Amino acid sequence: MSEESNHEEVPTYIVEKNNQYSVECQIQRAQNCHKKGEFCDSYQEAREWVEEECWIFSGEGWICVTCTEYIVMNLAKTRKRKGPDRRDDDLEVGIDTVR
Ligand SMILES: [Zn+2]
Repeated sequence: MSEESNHEEVPTYIVEKNNQYSVECQIQRAQNCHKKGEFCDSYQEAREWVEEECWIFSGEGWICVTCTEYIVMNLAKTRKRKGPDRRDDDLEVGIDTVR
């Protein structure tokens, strides 16, 4: 093993650059996605930084605030599109097509 065996294993959502660590946004979906958190001396600090910035931990990685908003907005849009009224319309269209 390399000298890295002295350290706790670095999580996959961490990016390292010049011995600085940063948490990478897991999904990077929003146009103005933060992509990465602040670079810190340790990845623990980098993780604390995104926690303070209210990034959301998905279980596998972190999702930045902007992407979280993006997801929530998309969910709201989907819900609107599939609202009770529209669903009836779609159903009618579907039935007409079958006929
Ligand atoms: Zn993001």
